[in-house]
Amino acid sequence: MKFNKYAKQHFEWVDEMGWHNKPLLGTIAMIGSEIGEVAAEVLKPLIHNDKLGEELADVCLRIMDLMYSHGFDIDASVNKNKSNISWQSVSHEGDILELMVDYCHLVNSARYDTLDEKFEFYLSSLLYRVIHITDHMNIDLDSCIVHKMDKNNKVGSKGRKV
Ligand SMILES: [Mg+2]
Repeated sequence: MKFNKYAKQHFEWVDEMGWHNKPLLGTIAMIGSEIGEVAAEVLKPLIHNDKLGEELADVCLRIMDLMYSHGFDIDASVNKNKSNISWQSVSHEGDILELMVDYCHLVNSARYDTLDEKFEFYLSSLLYRVIHITDHMNIDLDSCIVHKMDKNNKVGSKGRKV
């Protein structure tokens, strides 16, 4: 999975929509909202990979936009940090809990005036976990991201509240 390939295009689309107007914690809250949508899909009696894939793509797109706006090389960051990411979970549901744990760390890393390396680490860790989850569930993350960007381009409208 190569996030850099899509990040610039997605960042420019978000910018065009006028949605780069939130404080950092507001932007991070929207990542949390997408993780909640992932959890809601996993809680359903039957997991439909297409819907779950779309929500996981949403998580990635929000993170890609934030990382791009901070000038991170997203793919390099995921590669650099992946050896420090561990798993305790042995189930799909547990994997989503791991996303929540990293998300909590991300929020805490962004509460102060100066961002340190933890901010980048937890963003890239979340992306890495999504890659892992999609691999294990046979979801093609790359096409889910392309499909969602396509859908966004068709339905996105300037000024719509996000
Ligand atoms: Mg969503």
